[in-house]
Amino acid sequence: MQEKKGKGPSRRDIIRSAGAAAVLGAAAGASAAPGGAVTAPRPPRAFSRQAEVPGFGKARVVIVGGGWSGLEVARQLKKLKPELDVVLIEKRATFFSCPLSNLWLVGKLPLEELIHSYTDAARNHDYTWLHAAVVDVDRERRVVYTDEGWLTYDFLVLAPGIDYDYARYGVPDATEAARLRSMYPAAFKPGSEHITLRHKLENFEEGIFLLTVPPGNYRCLPAPYERACMIAGYMKENDIKGKVLLLDVHDEPPFKPDGINEAINDLYKDHIEIVRGVKVMGIDVSRRTLHTNKGDITFDDAAIYPPVRGAKILERIGIAKTDEPGLFAHIDPVKYHVIGDERVFVGGDARPMPFVKAGFAANYEAGHIARIITNQMDGKEMGPLQSPGMMCYVAVNADPLQSVAFKISFGMVYDRKTGGYVFRQTAQAFVNRSRAFGKANLQWGRSLFNEMFYSAL
Ligand SMILES: Cc1cc2nc3c(=O)[nH]c(=O)nc-3n(C[C@H](O)[C@H](O)[C@H](O)COP(=O)(O)OP(=O)(O)OC[C@H]3O[C@@H](n4cnc5c(N)ncnc54)[C@H](O)[C@@H]3O)c2cc1C
Repeated sequence: MQEKKGKGPSRRDIIRSAGAAAVLGAAAGASAAPGGAVTAPRPPRAFSRQAEVPGFGKARVVIVGGGWSGLEVARQLKKLKPELDVVLIEKRATFFSCPLSNLWLVGKLPLEELIHSYTDAARNHDYTWLHAAVVDVDRERRVVYTDEGWLTYDFLVLAPGIDYDYARYGVPDATEAARLRSMYPAAFKPGSEHITLRHKLENFEEGIFLLTVPPGNYRCLPAPYERACMIAGYMKENDIKGKVLLLDVHDEPPFKPDGINEAINDLYKDHIEIVRGVKVMGIDVSRRTLHTNKGDITFDDAAIYPPVRGAKILERIGIAKTDEPGLFAHIDPVKYHVIGDERVFVGGDARPMPFVKAGFAANYEAGHIARIITNQMDGKEMGPLQSPGMMCYVAVNADPLQSVAFKISFGMVYDRKTGGYVFRQTAQAFVNRSRAFGKANLQWGRSLFNEMFYSAL
């Protein structure tokens, strides 16, 4: 679909929209007068110009978010319908992988394994990468607004991932939450937080390094345990007089922990302490103290993982489930489109279905979303997502690399009793850690990086 000059929304239309008003400050740099009063913001200039993306006179699918979901949706769409004009909008300059990052954290994997180029992905799969941040969407006019200008869509896929919700850890104040995030970053969103966490480890001399496991369907269920094992191994290897204190809100972890427990007992008895059933109710950043249902707990350093929520852009454009604490997307769990809008879809960790929030799930589901869209273009119906069962690996020892494995299947199944679809997830654990699973872990990551960035279509 070719964009025509003069057919875009007028500046007045844009400024009138409530969503646009909400981002004026951020995009135009509203200035604060002395004493904190905010002067009237200027309209954002980027809103009145068209983004520099090619238009080919064909249907355009715009994807927001170049993570494990968005990258694969883009690739699959081009594979299914090469004639489509696919634009992937991602605000980061470089992809950084959370999967396998715990190995890099302790110096056992080079950074080059985790970072990849969006330019490579777009070039090799014949789509366009727009390096921009999405600030608003006008679903009536089908326009996406970015800090690099606006563009129109025929179909839109939102895959923006997660944000943190510090209020559910008893830190509702934005200033305190920002301080907490910079002092003790969770490192569950890709990029800078991971680098800070690595620097923290490199400088850690002794004492308690605290990790938390939040409530709700948080990103990557076993990852805090994997991280605990990696950090404990690092302390052991470097003779650091320290211990990982892992506070888990669950009495029983929300995955089968046997293989991980066994590894902790065998390898890290002196370096990991796990306390279960700990609810975080407040955090005193200055005193390095967590207020919990089990009393105050102090630490020397930490990576505090709070509850997660759908990325804030969902709420900003009015498609978050505001009646639920996770603020995930309000979509049809079978057809993936936003309720009441069959041109806008949501995938990856921003989805509301209680699937594992994992890269392998986002990647698998992406092919399904791409097929729903192309089928819809061809006037065909599609059934629900049904996972055949996929392997998920958790590293428990870095040197030699050993992992445990889970076989997980997830999806929506038809329920004859109710005549509707119900969510199903099963997980089978392979208890023994092994080098073979360690190798499979690395191979899994590498093969998906290859698919998302380098392979021919
Ligand atoms: C330490 C750790 C270990 C993990 N290990 C594994 C593992 O071994 N196996 C596994 O399967 N999963 C693992 N995961 C989980 C996995 O990383 C996530 O489930 C996966 O990244 C989800 O993909 P996503 O595309 O939904 O979100 P993301 O990968 O977070 O991507 C979202 C993207 O959207 C972009 N974005 C957001 N808002 C905007 C906007 N307004 N404009 C433009 N761009 C925007 C963000 O910059 C980001 O790049 C792990 C996670 C962590 C933190």
